[in-house]
Amino acid sequence: MIYDALSQILDTTMYVSTLMQPGIDPHTYKASAGDLKQLKKADLVVYNGLNLEGKFSETLDEISKTDKALAVTKYLKESDLIYTDGTIPDPHIWFDLPLWQYCIRNTLDEILKRFQNQLSAQQIQFIEKNAEKYFLELTEAHHEALRKFAEIPQEQRVVITAHDAFNYFGRVYGVEVIGLQGISTASEFGLKDVVEMIHFITERKIPAIFIESTVSDHTVKAVIEGCKSKGHTLKLGGTLYSDALGPKGSGHHTLYGAFRHNVEMIYQSLKAGS
Ligand SMILES: [Zn+2]
Repeated sequence: MIYDALSQILDTTMYVSTLMQPGIDPHTYKASAGDLKQLKKADLVVYNGLNLEGKFSETLDEISKTDKALAVTKYLKESDLIYTDGTIPDPHIWFDLPLWQYCIRNTLDEILKRFQNQLSAQQIQFIEKNAEKYFLELTEAHHEALRKFAEIPQEQRVVITAHDAFNYFGRVYGVEVIGLQGISTASEFGLKDVVEMIHFITERKIPAIFIESTVSDHTVKAVIEGCKSKGHTLKLGGTLYSDALGPKGSGHHTLYGAFRHNVEMIYQSLKAGS
């Protein structure tokens, strides 16, 4: 998501590359030797900062000592954050589009400040024009989501996903979101949880459950089977983008594309169930 924003906005004025490719789970990502070389060479390393890059944090800690690291979430206030797990803030802020835009705007300002001596007035103008387009698209997508979910009665706006990547999404778009796993894909989802989830879904007559592009789907399938044995048909709502965007050419390789895909999937399944 960070690469999508910065590569679109900075375009040819700066060289932007990403370590985590489409479909990669950031919670369990480990830096390779090639990555370390790239990190060393970079003038700036931009990352999430809310412990999203769990297995990567030691490397990032090292870099942050050199003032080369910039966390996009450092601009957020305590009240912006969601704590579902005691003291650890949920890192999945990108599906709250206004909050994400706030982070990217501040990150961009910091980048422009750091590199101001190396950029011409014309280049800065070009960057600002790209930024305007990026933010305008996300604002449109935000309003589209608000409009769509407003059509669904509040009590029916329940979404069940493979892991807790949609809490910020749920807060801003008024959707109750339940993840089968915790906020990191690294945590276990036990048999007891499956049984409880089947009970919950059957009671609430929830129409659909979603899998995610970066999470294994076998738990989701176990829940669907369990509901079936209790006489409740739980449909597979489709695949949502959670922690990674789609591959180039899929139309979902930008946050704009992936977000709109998610909204459409969720909207269609909730509408069918209402
Ligand atoms: Zn996640």
